Amino acid sequence: MSRRYETHCHTGEASRCARVPAEEQVRYYHSLGFDGIIITDHFLGGNTTAPAQLGWKRRIEILCSGYKNARAEGRRLGLKVFFGWEFAHLGCDFLTYGLSPEWLLENENLDQMPIVDYLQYVRREGALVIHAHPFREAPYIPYIQLLPRQVDGVEILNACRKDFENERAAEYARAYGLPVFAGGDNHSAAKQTRLCGIETEEPLDSIDDFIRVFRAGEYRLFDTKEE
Ligand SMILES: [Zn+2]
Ligand SMILES: [Zn+2]
Repeated sequence: MSRRYETHCHTGEASRCARVPAEEQVRYYHSLGFDGIIITDHFLGGNTTAPAQLGWKRRIEILCSGYKNARAEGRRLGLKVFFGWEFAHLGCDFLTYGLSPEWLLENENLDQMPIVDYLQYVRREGALVIHAHPFREAPYIPYIQLLPRQVDGVEILNACRKDFENERAAEYARAYGLPVFAGGDNHSAAKQTRLCGIETEEPLDSIDDFIRVFRAGEYRLFDTKEE
């Protein structure tokens, strides 16, 4: 039996642009029969709810608060909830998986790192990094930036992006031989009807399982628009 996972999901606790609390996201994916979701709120320096003037510890607690609430609700309902974040750099977004809230607490000022240093550092520390919607076009994005040698994969299906943007991302991944990825980028639970993500045959029980399966290529992408 294949199992579905949302890989890219925001909560109102930690993402300023999200419209719903973590609990509501969990209930939505549980109602759809998903096996798990990864909470990827915007990192400090991105569209975060954590005020810049607070200390590092407090800001990281705010960043992780949506995940913690989601995990509690997930335990109650029986939906797996894993942790990640979305790191922003001038309109570029990098989904970062495999490092824990505790790791973040020990890495003060991570948000201040130049982007290439950040990508090299977190990957050396064991993170999996996916370039989210690399061809997104929006007024706040000054130009498209690609770092094909600094990421582990490319989000070629993002449920919130236009076909044109996703198609360019797929061409980019193919041209560089980069593994492909899909995510819902959900900011509004059930108000978002199109979802994208990954499907696996074996159940994933941790973010490490997710990374292992991704690196082994033992997953499929899904897009509910095509169903
Ligand atoms: Zn957002
Ligand atoms: Zn996102």
